Amino acid sequence: MCINCFNSHQNSLIALFGQNTVNQQLDRLLEILNATEQAWHANLNYFNGIPIRYILICEAPPWRPVGEEISYFYSQTNGSILKTVWRAFFNNNEVPENAHLFLAQQGFLLVDSIPYSLKYTSNQRRKVAYRALVSNCLNCTIGKINTPGIEVEPNVKIALGFKLNARAFMNATNNVLQIGNGIDHINFTEDNIAADGSGNINSTRLRSILGIQF
Ligand SMILES: [Zn+2]
Repeated sequence: MCINCFNSHQNSLIALFGQNTVNQQLDRLLEILNATEQAWHANLNYFNGIPIRYILICEAPPWRPVGEEISYFYSQTNGSILKTVWRAFFNNNEVPENAHLFLAQQGFLLVDSIPYSLKYTSNQRRKVAYRALVSNCLNCTIGKINTPGIEVEPNVKIALGFKLNARAFMNATNNVLQIGNGIDHINFTEDNIAADGSGNINSTRLRSILGIQF
């Protein structure tokens, strides 16, 4: 995501959380966006000619109030999503300090689909405003997959992290994603969703969707 998305889609956020909450949290949300975007872009340096082969599309970095450390997949090695992804690729639970480098070497990239790190409820995720938010950020999400200088493999595999976010994303794409200048098409079905019944990303499902062999 980017500052343009952050500035452009606040009406959707207000529809979901109300003007007061948005006013109160906006500075912190921007702080989280800046920190996590910086970490996301820094991670691209690890690709260094390696094409993207696996993509996991998630919602946004988690909300953390002022005073708490910002938590993000690409800025630390003790997060639960990283642990799940690591288990999917390497079949063990011990995430090393240089996990992000190893994952980039495998061609793995995580992409966020919305810019606002708030704690969304399932009810909010079912609302039109949430779908509009995901839909309005779609070009940015695709832009991140197609970052200049980073190659995407023609048979790239895409997993969607969380069920309701995934459905909003699939709805926004009409179940088809064009990448690499429209040459490659990904057709989404419910089978692309890596969440299990608990709502969390399941490493076995993720491994199967991404077609990881080890
Ligand atoms: Zn953006």
